[in-house]
Amino acid sequence: MTHPAQPKASHFINGEYVEDTAGTPIPVIYAATGEQIATVYAATPAIVEQALSTAKEAQKAWAKMTGTERGRILRRAADIMRERNHELSVLETYDTGKPLQETLVADATSGADALEYFGGLAGSLTGEHIPMGEDWVYTVREALGLCVGIGAWNYPTQIACWKGAPALACGNSMVFKPSETTPLCALKVAEILHEAGAPAGIYNVIQGMGEVGGALVTDPRVDKVSLTGSVPTGKKVYAAAAEGMKHVTMELGGKSPLIIFDDADIDNAVGGAINGNFYSSGQVCSNGTRVFVQKGIKEKFLARLAERTGNAILGDPMDEATSFGPMVTENQMNIVLGYIEKGKEEGARVVCGGARADMPGYYIQPTVFADVTDDMTIAREEIFGPVMSVLDFETEEEVVARANDTEFGLSAGVFTNDFSRAHRVIGQLEAGSCFINSYNDAPVEAPFGGVKASGVGRENSKEAIKHFSQVKSVYVRMGDVEAAF
Ligand code: NDP
Repeated sequence: MTHPAQPKASHFINGEYVEDTAGTPIPVIYAATGEQIATVYAATPAIVEQALSTAKEAQKAWAKMTGTERGRILRRAADIMRERNHELSVLETYDTGKPLQETLVADATSGADALEYFGGLAGSLTGEHIPMGEDWVYTVREALGLCVGIGAWNYPTQIACWKGAPALACGNSMVFKPSETTPLCALKVAEILHEAGAPAGIYNVIQGMGEVGGALVTDPRVDKVSLTGSVPTGKKVYAAAAEGMKHVTMELGGKSPLIIFDDADIDNAVGGAINGNFYSSGQVCSNGTRVFVQKGIKEKFLARLAERTGNAILGDPMDEATSFGPMVTENQMNIVLGYIEKGKEEGARVVCGGARADMPGYYIQPTVFADVTDDMTIAREEIFGPVMSVLDFETEEEVVARANDTEFGLSAGVFTNDFSRAHRVIGQLEAGSCFINSYNDAPVEAPFGGVKASGVGRENSKEAIKHFSQVKSVYVRMGDVEAAF
C-alpha cells in the first residue's frame, strides 16, 4: 500500500504535479524508523527547462497585478495552511523526523505567518517622490524577475515559505528546490498557493541534488538566488551567481555564542540554552552551541541543565508527548556521533548524553560537554546536532573577544539582569540575529540572517522586501534641455 507521505508526483510546475521517472530516484526515509516511505525523482534537464521557462513567462503577468491582488492570494494561502496545520505537521514530521509537538507550532504555522505578513505588505510597496526644484525624480520598486530558492533539510515548509512569500509579494516568480533529504513539504506549499489562486507557473518546485541546484543557479534567465545551506555550499552558489551578476541571499551555518553572566536568572538561562541547542534535535542554524558561563555560577548552571535535559522525552515523533526526535538521516547521525567522540578525545567532560540512544531510528541523546576550550573541534565547527559545549569565562571583555573569534556570525545571545551590560555586549558581538534573555525566537516581523561567513542579506521583515526587489529611479525634467552643442 502506498504510504500517505508519498506525493502525487515529484515536481510541481505550471500549476500541476509533473512526473519524470527518468530522473535519479531519491528515496525518502522516515528518520524515526529508517523505513522508506516515499520516492521522488531528481529533475531531468527537461524538467529544469520546463520549470524555468514556465516561471519566466508567468512572472510578467504576475508583476502587472496590483500588490493588493497578489497579497490577497498569499493571505488566502496562509489561511489554507492554518486550516490544514495538522496534516501538514504530520508530513513535516515524516519529512524530517522532528516531533509533532514541534511541527504543530513551528513549521506550517511559521510558513503561514510569512504568507500573511508578506501578503499584507504587498500592497504597500511604493516608491518615493524626490523634488528637484521644478524637476523631480520618482522611484519605483520593481520585481527582480525569476528567483530560485534552494532549501536545507531542517525546516522544509518554513524555508519554502520564507523564500516564496516575499518573492511573490514583490511580483517575482520562483523555482524552489528542496533538499534531496526532505523533498515532500515544499510540494504542499506549491499546491496550496495554487489552490489559493496563484496563477500557474508562479511558484514551482523541482527535486534534485546539488547538480539540479547548480543548473538553476547558472541559468541566465534567473535573476536571484536565495540559498539556505552550509557555508561551503554557500560559497559555491554565491560564486556561481556572481558569474551571472545575480542577486543573492545566503542563509548559512553558524557556531553562535550564548553568554550567561553570573547575575542571570539561572532557570531562564538554562531554558535559553536548551531552546538554543536541543530544539529540532539541534538541527538549527542559529543555535547557541558555544555556551559561555561565568565562573561563579558554572556548577549551579550545569547541575540545573543536566537535571532539565534529563526530562527530554525521546520517542515516537508522532506522539505529542515526545519532545526530542531523531537526526534527519543516518549520515547526519554519524557525523554528529563523530563530533561527540572528538569532544571526548580532546578532553571535554560529558555532563549528560554522549552516545546514540538505544532505540530504533537515528536518535542521539541530548549531549552537554563542560570544560570545553576555544581550540577544541566541538567549539569551532558547526555540528548541527544535539551537542552543547559549555565554556567558562571570567570577564566581559574576555568573553566578547572569545565569542567573536569565529568565522561565523549568525546569532548571539546574552543572559544578564544588568541591562546596560546586555546592550553593551550585544553591541559588540559580530552576529546578525541576537537575543537578550531569550534564544532562537524567529518571528516573521524581525530580520533574520548572518554576518561574516554566515551569510549575505536578510530574510523576513521589511528587509526581505529589499532583497526581492530593485529600485528604478526616473528623472523628470519639466523645462527645456540644455546641451553644450
Ligand atoms: P547543504 O549546504 O548541504 O545543502 C543546502 C542546499 O543546497 C540543498 O538543497 C543542496 O542540495 C543544495 N546544493 C548543494 N550543492 C549545491 C550546488 N553546488 N549548487 C546549488 N545547490 C546546491 O546544507 P544542508 O541541507 O546539509 O543543511 C544544513 C546547513 O544549512 C547547515 O550548515 C545549517 O547551518 C544551514 N542552515 C542555515 C540556516 C539559515 O537560515 N542561516 C537555516 C537552516 C540551515 P542537496 O541537499 O539535495 O544536495
